[in-house]
Amino acid sequence: MSTLSASCHCGAVRFEAEEPEWVLDCNCSHCRLYGGLWAYYPQREVRFLGAPDTFIYMWGDRELEFHHCRTCGCATHSTQAGTDDAERIAVNARLMRGIDPKRTRLVQKNNGNDGVFWTHTDSPVLPSHDEPPQRSDP
Ligand SMILES: [Zn+2]
Repeated sequence: MSTLSASCHCGAVRFEAEEPEWVLDCNCSHCRLYGGLWAYYPQREVRFLGAPDTFIYMWGDRELEFHHCRTCGCATHSTQAGTDDAERIAVNARLMRGIDPKRTRLVQKNNGNDGVFWTHTDSPVLPSHDEPPQRSDP
């Protein structure tokens, strides 16, 4: 595992994190529109370079803050509302330079309950009530 640098399109939001073992493709009503691939970390393990200049979108139970670059609009990460030290936040792995799809496992999660994904994987699709695998899972 190595540390990867990540950046939105315009470079205003930058962060570093360990190369993920797996990324999540979620087909819920929200993620399916973003097309993001989510990698999960304890918040303290994601090192933002400067304060990320983002705007936040929230909906539903308003427990998650979806951050977007204020300049270029990229969906960069999501955090839990009300804490700066969450046990788990998601970053958009598509922003990571050098991430290798050949050695990064793709996990599909059927939160949209229709089984429709634009990605392909040989791994079983997780039903919507399952938690995504932990980082230490093979
Ligand atoms: Zn940007």
